[in-house]
Amino acid sequence: MRVYNFCAGPAMLPPAVMKKAQQEFINWQNLGVSVMEISHRSAPFLELARECEASLRRLMNISDEFEVLFMHGGGRGHFAAVPLNLHQDDAPGVYIENGIWSCGATKEGQKFTQVEAIDIRRDQDGVFDVLPVSQWALPDNAAYIHYCPNETIDGIELFDVPKHPTAPIVADMSSNILSREMNVDDFDLIYAGAQKNIGPSGLSIAIVRKTLLERKGLPRPAILDYAIEAQQQSMYNTPPTFAWYLAAEVFKYLESIGGVKAMEAHNKEKAALLYDYIDSSSFYLNKVAKHCRSLMNVPFWLHDESLNEQFLAQAQEHGLIALEGHRFVGGMRASIYNAMPIEGIKALIAFMEKFAQENS
Ligand code: PMP
Repeated sequence: MRVYNFCAGPAMLPPAVMKKAQQEFINWQNLGVSVMEISHRSAPFLELARECEASLRRLMNISDEFEVLFMHGGGRGHFAAVPLNLHQDDAPGVYIENGIWSCGATKEGQKFTQVEAIDIRRDQDGVFDVLPVSQWALPDNAAYIHYCPNETIDGIELFDVPKHPTAPIVADMSSNILSREMNVDDFDLIYAGAQKNIGPSGLSIAIVRKTLLERKGLPRPAILDYAIEAQQQSMYNTPPTFAWYLAAEVFKYLESIGGVKAMEAHNKEKAALLYDYIDSSSFYLNKVAKHCRSLMNVPFWLHDESLNEQFLAQAQEHGLIALEGHRFVGGMRASIYNAMPIEGIKALIAFMEKFAQENS
């Protein structure tokens, strides 16, 4: 039996993609072998890779000014790759901090380069808020500006993109890539671990402005070198081929249902339904200021936290799994990525209503 899986990642994938993968699992393209049993340099796989990149370029409207790289190392791999590739001797890497993942990126960056962290969080009487982009005090001299437009754990999303006259803008889109329309030209480097909106874990994606590849940076492992990955068409070493194949299937599927524009409408409808219910309830609470609430990750708390265990156990009995909040923040969290259907949100709300009635 399939359940509604609210896991923050690895997250649910579109059932249509999973079924197709199952059908061709041991015999892909009538080759008599699985896609994971063939060489990444074989013609069928190279064609898969070419079409996967083309599909992502269409979905995100990525111009020829950018390289699209398929890499190992997840989101955290890029926490290291960014300073290693973009370091400059005379300018700090600037890190905007708005939650647990962006702070993690700062910490990793500090190992390699000089860092200036700018904390934009504001706790207004228990409401988590962030300074709007227009009020960020960005220094003139910066090697790059790193930020995380969707904080997966904190449930904070930034909808405006920062601008800087000289420094490249680097975005960790691990948990909101492909969730809504974004103008790739506003960025210089976008990266994401795959395991939320792209495919299974093991793969990460970097979309890098070609001019950035000229930076000398610091000595670094070849597998974290964006220029080498670009030269080698992401095949400097053996890539995670099965994850890459599934990503290609997810992209194809997204295109077939109307692309990112359709996904955005779907995601906004889902998030509005859930936040409206939480706001209207005196039993549950969301602590994030409305203008920066994530469309992808909805943390919520029971006013009576002694009921948490009971809530989670009963949710599971109702086929609603992985609702426990991250261990750093507690409470609950519903991750509602692209693949979560609106029926899943309705089922969650129906359960939350019932639980509230029975325990008020
Ligand atoms: N950045 C963000 C925004 C994330 O949500 C995560 C993982 N949940 C990471 C980075 C780290 O990704 P990984 O585990 O793939 O290294």
